[in-house]
Amino acid sequence: AHLAGAHAAKGVMCESCHKSGTSVSDGEREVNASCVGCHGPMEKIPASSEGPNPHKSHLGDIQCTTCHRAHESSRAYCLECHDFPQFEKMPFASPKRPAPKPLDDFTHAKPERVETVDLVVVGSGAAGFVAAMEAHDRGVRNIVILEKMPIPGGNSQLAAGGMNAAGTSFQKAQGIEDRAELMAADTMKGGKNVSDPALVDVLARESAASVEWLRERGAPLENVARGAGASAARMHGPKGGLAVGPYLSAFFRKNVDQLEGVDLRLNSRMVKLVRNDRGDVTGVLVEGLHTGLYQLDAKAVILATGGLGANKALVKKYRPDISPETKTSNQPGTTGDGMILGEEAGAALVDVQEIQLNPTLLVGSPVIISETVRGQGAVFVNREGKRFIQELATRDVTSAAVSKQTGGTAFEIFDDGVRERVAQLKAAFELGLAKEGNTLEELGRNAGIDPANLKATIERYNAMARAGKDDEFGRPDIKIELKGPRYYAIEITPAIHYAMGGLKIDTDTRVIDKAGKPIANLFAAGETTGGVHGKNRLGGNSISETITFGRIAGDRAADAILKK
Ligand code: FAD
Repeated sequence: AHLAGAHAAKGVMCESCHKSGTSVSDGEREVNASCVGCHGPMEKIPASSEGPNPHKSHLGDIQCTTCHRAHESSRAYCLECHDFPQFEKMPFASPKRPAPKPLDDFTHAKPERVETVDLVVVGSGAAGFVAAMEAHDRGVRNIVILEKMPIPGGNSQLAAGGMNAAGTSFQKAQGIEDRAELMAADTMKGGKNVSDPALVDVLARESAASVEWLRERGAPLENVARGAGASAARMHGPKGGLAVGPYLSAFFRKNVDQLEGVDLRLNSRMVKLVRNDRGDVTGVLVEGLHTGLYQLDAKAVILATGGLGANKALVKKYRPDISPETKTSNQPGTTGDGMILGEEAGAALVDVQEIQLNPTLLVGSPVIISETVRGQGAVFVNREGKRFIQELATRDVTSAAVSKQTGGTAFEIFDDGVRERVAQLKAAFELGLAKEGNTLEELGRNAGIDPANLKATIERYNAMARAGKDDEFGRPDIKIELKGPRYYAIEITPAIHYAMGGLKIDTDTRVIDKAGKPIANLFAAGETTGGVHGKNRLGGNSISETITFGRIAGDRAADAILKK
């Protein structure tokens, strides 16, 4: 009882979907083209269930087969992260997706075939896409981007707030004074001075050029806000306060789709790094969903596989103190593969015990409410209706403070002004997780917060905002009053969010082995690497890292390839 059988019962036979024979590529583009050919584009197909429309998800333009499988049980991809019971009723649905084979199983596995390319980029988040685009700009062709999930984008696609950069043209146009030195100092301080200063220097110094790189290619980030731990407004996002991740991800996908010589392969998992007798990396072993196990020989490999937040075993290994009940904000493919396979290939790891909790995961659905909401004026209160922290404190401090409140949760309180300035708040409203009130007391009653205390707290906060000084907690940017006309509350709790540690790299993104030497032909960028964020990442610094170090990785890999 599968979709294929249901089609056959209606006389829609194999050749209707498999127009060019029955073999299917791992990315399943051709069968998806058949789905669209008969049913029309996804966004035009009405969803049969109530609640969020899975055909217009925040994941952008996804393929039908991400959820609807023809020859096996189907399952709504949304259920990997969200609790939407109505989606369980999807036709031919199964309650679980089969777990992937452990990476260990491939240590001695032999490929069924070998393919040769110039560059393999592993991971289709921001770091991977940027690296591939930069290498292509430098003249490299025959590039394969491997993505193990059925959709590209990784955690990058979920990024909500923005990208930190200092000294940009957008800041200058808005009269914001900022310098790379200041960004570097904030990053070092935010990371408790354990970051690698050389990497932090590159992050800060190259950040404005990275914003320019995006702008030149058609993705301007002109909205500038102030993030936690930053001494200037430098968190860049798209116009209108849209979330940065979906915006950049859509841009990267469109761009890479048009590049000749860049092949994005979905459902294609790197399961091993292949090395020669000298220990040089010579390629990767790939498990393709349909094409089986094969080897990609390459002149260079860039690891851009992201963090480890969705790998409970790895989180437990590095941070046994984090409760196994703690949820994650990460997409399910964030399982530390680059770190695991890099280490197996001899790479050194740095700061892997430094796993960041983000204080503001929505209670009820794993969506992160970005710091921009606080940056634009939201106030934290607990269930008792009292403030308990300076809202712009760093994530480690805020997460620890939220955990100590009644029930381990707290509330972000805001008004229509904040709601209008931060478009990404839409998600909380769409998910039905924002409570409302015409007065603060009404809001308190609707959200389960002490109404009288909430009113007193916000009135006092407004008085301090008018005076421009937070006498209670020392909030640095206190100037925006919450004045209605309607008031809102979102309940939040800390979640496993970000891996500060990872593969050791140098400023050329070369992966460094345990003896301190670069592993030949192996580069890495983005969250799979360590050293930039020390003990605590500042919001906005990761997208910045992915663009800057992605550019460097693409450039240095191109150097290595074009020399050969
Ligand atoms: P990712 O974007 O995670 O991409 C890695 C990709 O590699 C994934 O698609 C993954 O499936 C794939 N992959 C993994 N293993 C394999 C394998 N073996 N074979 C093939 N493919 C593989 N940072 C900011 O700076 N600003 C923000 O506003 C912000 N908001 C965030 C909001 C949320 C909800 C989350 C989760 C993170 C946020 N971050 C933010 C952090 C930031 O988005 C990520 O750290 C960053 O995008 C990581 O980019 P990446 O390219 O390194 O990895």
